[in-house]
Amino acid sequence: MAKMLLLSCCAPCSCGVIKKLSREGRDFAVLFYNPNIAPEDEYKKRLAENKRLCDVFKVPFYDLEYQPALWAEAIKGCEKDAERGERCFRCFLMRLRRAAVFAKHNGFDTFSSVLGVSRHKDMDQVNKAGLMAGELEGIPYDTFNWRKGGLEELRRAVNKELTLYNQNYCGCPYSKRSKDIE
Ligand code: SF4
Repeated sequence: MAKMLLLSCCAPCSCGVIKKLSREGRDFAVLFYNPNIAPEDEYKKRLAENKRLCDVFKVPFYDLEYQPALWAEAIKGCEKDAERGERCFRCFLMRLRRAAVFAKHNGFDTFSSVLGVSRHKDMDQVNKAGLMAGELEGIPYDTFNWRKGGLEELRRAVNKELTLYNQNYCGCPYSKRSKDIE
């Protein structure tokens, strides 16, 4: 079976998927690359919580550099866009391209993400960014729908069971300001 890298934005979004894949005995690892998250204290909090979750399920966990300046450059000119607009597409594409590069250089056959798990996100937009990132970096992106097949219920159950930290905004300073709720 293909070895997969799963890009995660946070513990509450990834917990159902991680439990499902672990239960199925899938060969996978979790990657945390989220330079969109601000402020840094919040970033550290989400990082620590995602690591705690992976430790519970004994899943390999990698975190990459925190690069808010690079992220700001990637979304420049779209700061005022509404959620699901061009700003979010660029944000997804940047993070997914980094995940694709990491996957390609570390022995993974494919990559995917939980960036579209929240009902506040546009799954088609995430898939479009993932497919583009895969094409640009030369590794296939798995567009599996992580919301279906009981995964939402599983996500809620694991959230409750592990009393995971749940933030009330997506991540970037603009989502915090406009109170976009994840
Ligand atoms: S709202 Fe979320 S997905 Fe959109 S740009 Fe901000 S952090 Fe990225």
